Amino acid sequence: MKQRIAEPVNRVPFSVIREMSQRAAAYEKVITLGIGEPDFHTPAEISRLALQDAENGATHYTPAQGDPELLQAVVAYLKERNGESLSTRNLVVTHGGMGALNAFFRLTLEPGDEVIIPEPYFPSYKPQVEWVGGVVAGVHTRPADGFMPRIEDLERAVTPKSKALLLNTPNNPSGAVYPEALLQEIAAFARRHDLLVLSDEVYERLCFTSGTPRSIRSLSGMEERTVVVHSFSKSFAMTGWRIGYAFGPEWLITPMIKVASYYTSCASSVSQRAALAALKNQKLFTAMYHEFESRRDLICKRLAAMDHIRLTRADGAFYVFPDISHFSRDSREFALDLLDRQQVVVVPGEAFGSGYKDCIRIAFTIGRDAINEAMDRLEAYLASLQ
Ligand code: PLP
Repeated sequence: MKQRIAEPVNRVPFSVIREMSQRAAAYEKVITLGIGEPDFHTPAEISRLALQDAENGATHYTPAQGDPELLQAVVAYLKERNGESLSTRNLVVTHGGMGALNAFFRLTLEPGDEVIIPEPYFPSYKPQVEWVGGVVAGVHTRPADGFMPRIEDLERAVTPKSKALLLNTPNNPSGAVYPEALLQEIAAFARRHDLLVLSDEVYERLCFTSGTPRSIRSLSGMEERTVVVHSFSKSFAMTGWRIGYAFGPEWLITPMIKVASYYTSCASSVSQRAALAALKNQKLFTAMYHEFESRRDLICKRLAAMDHIRLTRADGAFYVFPDISHFSRDSREFALDLLDRQQVVVVPGEAFGSGYKDCIRIAFTIGRDAINEAMDRLEAYLASLQ
């Protein structure tokens, strides 16, 4: 039979993360620091409320934009949390944060349009951009800069085809949280080049700096060009429910609703009820945020005590992205060998951009005892390489 899979899909390999998980399946007593989701289950009370709503009929399509009660609750949440003055017309509920990302690319990109993205970045961005004909213009960032972009490097990435800038803060994989001064400079850059901004803030509640992190959307002149993506996945331990949302100016959100309606009809109705229950019961998550912060402190303390591991400050999400170049310049080889010899899974840095073969991503999505055990094994592995 002749080749029938479209070339853009054919040329993208399965992710390195999948390769690591498949290899790990061959071992017993594996500790995985590879998983990008909270180990906490959704609180039972939330599942109970959602299922109760399903029993009472929340089993139909909702409007494409989202369940009207959830839309109202998100508007109230954003007002209380970020001081945002939104109307429901500025909002669309999506199939995870992922649904918001695809809808944005679908509606803004024409063939050849470029999206500037600071590296390292979440591996799904590139296929999503390319599958609608767009092109990713990656901008290298350095460990010494805390994996935050320099404006001169962003400037160099601009071409007549530049259409949008994608930011992700708190960041996967580096844990970086962009400070307001940098966001101000990036905002000025976006305005100078008339770029749209897609601000992926799916880790917004997992931020260990004091106060709520600032969004680039709140800066002067940014409201009309910025779409922000939030998600219930990471921030509310609800990955499997697949609910996220995007908010921004009506001229971008209205066509996003159109795209979402043709692609997905609407997000799952029962999951939207669960998201509503989460917003009404936010205190159920407080212990989880504190736990992630203690794990961050623990893992940074353990890594800082290991000679020749260079660690960059991680203020958000649940990842650290240390530099292991003293031991290996090939993070994939390092990760596979660590798995084979100590049964610890980490993700090679190259999964997040070709310039990161010196780094590994460690997710602290396991309990503190398991983190300590994994760090003991990593220490033993590094000692064996000296
Ligand atoms: N954005 C980033 C940076 C992520 O790390 C992820 C998931 O890992 C997503 C978006 C998508 O999350 P979801 O679709 O579960 O909301």
